[in-house]
Amino acid sequence: MGADVLVVGAGPAGLTAAAELARYGVAVRIIEKNRQRGAHSRALFLWSRTLELLDRAGIGGQFVAAGHQVRAANIIAEQKLIGRIDFSNIASPHPYALMLPQAQTEALLEAHLNSFGVQVERGAKLDFFLDDGGTVKSVIVCAGGKRETLETRWMIGCDGARSTVRDELEFSDQTQTGSHDWVLADVALSGFDAPADELFSYWHEDGFLAIFPIAEGKYRIIADTGTSESANPAEPSLLAVQNLLDERGPARLVASEPIWLAGFRVRERNVGQYRRGGVFLAGDAAHLHNPAGAQGMNMGMHDAFDLAWKMALALTGACDGEALLESYDAERRPVADHVIGNVHRLTALSTMKNAAAQRARNLLGGFLLGLAPARRAAAAEASEIALAYRNSPMIGPDDGSFPIATPGERMPPVKGQVPVGAGERPRFALFAEANEATTRFLQDFAELLEPELRPAPAASCMWLVRPDGYVAAVGLTGDIRVFYRYFEKLGAKEEAALL
Ligand SMILES: Cc1cc2nc3c(=O)[nH]c(=O)nc-3n(C[C@H](O)[C@H](O)[C@H](O)COP(=O)(O)OP(=O)(O)OC[C@H]3O[C@@H](n4cnc5c(N)ncnc54)[C@H](O)[C@@H]3O)c2cc1C
Repeated sequence: MGADVLVVGAGPAGLTAAAELARYGVAVRIIEKNRQRGAHSRALFLWSRTLELLDRAGIGGQFVAAGHQVRAANIIAEQKLIGRIDFSNIASPHPYALMLPQAQTEALLEAHLNSFGVQVERGAKLDFFLDDGGTVKSVIVCAGGKRETLETRWMIGCDGARSTVRDELEFSDQTQTGSHDWVLADVALSGFDAPADELFSYWHEDGFLAIFPIAEGKYRIIADTGTSESANPAEPSLLAVQNLLDERGPARLVASEPIWLAGFRVRERNVGQYRRGGVFLAGDAAHLHNPAGAQGMNMGMHDAFDLAWKMALALTGACDGEALLESYDAERRPVADHVIGNVHRLTALSTMKNAAAQRARNLLGGFLLGLAPARRAAAAEASEIALAYRNSPMIGPDDGSFPIATPGERMPPVKGQVPVGAGERPRFALFAEANEATTRFLQDFAELLEPELRPAPAASCMWLVRPDGYVAAVGLTGDIRVFYRYFEKLGAKEEAALL
């Protein structure tokens, strides 16, 4: 067997998956049909949860150093500020949105992957594959036309919106194409007298317009432009972008020096299954989001983080690998459904055209965004720290009374503390006070657990946290049995049984 895992596609999802697998010592190959990395900025936002996961991979700091931090989002309607969502209240070591063009994100991820001795095999295209129930046999057309047959235990299709892997396996697919056209323009902007670390969205009677700062003097403009006959909207001219700014934005803005101009139509999709046998889908291959919601790339990277530790752990044989891998679909698909639905509703609100409905929206929006809990909830949703795996088969029971974080929720990372899941092996962490029972538990499952306890953030409870930083199970202090039951469900073998 040439490798344990073949990753198809070197976009953000594929690079993250390959780098995480390599970090955990899994033999991985990654192929990319294009000879060169894409140069377009595409995804711009890296949200707090993604940065936390990148910290866990050991490279969050590099992203923060390269990006531009944005600390608030403003919504303006009828020339009035109707809401301001302050990201600095996000309960994360990264209380901001980080603006970094996708090409730079990919370059950082690829350099990280290379640091484990794994190179992206460029100009290598997956032609077809066969899953025989035990291994996946793939035929790859390499640069120069040579064909190679590769046998791996698993394959991850990170091959984007037009995924060959998805289409070959006929994963059920209900793509919805929106009726609105959108323009996107990365430009220099003069006359914009606004803090460079804030976003501005304009709910104008003619449609939606947003201005996102990318870097000093450079901004991304996004606007919906109504319906057209064409399925593929044309690239807008700079003049068309200027006209949209004049109509819907603040007065006297001048756009110049276009870096990237694009037209797009929103497509939304979530396939009916993320796994079939040894083949998995991640990123845009599995789900498509409205780019205006700025979640798609982040979601694809989260898929990769979720799947990589499960594959790495499954390979060790220390627990029931099959159950772990099954939980990938059970966890990631509902999360994508949730995010696609939220962005869809927000887009519908921002682009509504009926004047009476617009007035009602502006009034209600102003009222809701005047409430601090609603603003905090909006920031937690956007930053993806609120996303949780509450109905996953891989979490323990929740009696609704646990403080800090309940099973399926992310354990809030503490700045300066080594993140759970960092290092060369995927290990669970126990947040509890030291006593005979907790020490014994660490010894019983030494293969699966970090060797040291971590301090519990509240004296009443103990938390067992998964290698991806999500809470596996919570027990009242003194009740260690809940964790034994959890590991039993995971098919984990006690140390004595492994000897
Ligand atoms: C205008 C725009 C703005 C966006 N803004 C944001 C944002 O702010 N935040 C955000 O989170 N998301 C955003 N997105 C979405 C984001 O760009 C995508 O979600 C992201 O690129 C998906 O990553 P991926 O790795 O799944 O797929 P891709 O980036 O599409 O990568 C797939 C790769 O697979 C390769 N491939 C395909 N077929 C094969 C094959 N048979 N063999 C080998 N290789 C193959 C392709 O060449 C490609 O390189 C935006 C998208 C657009 C278009």
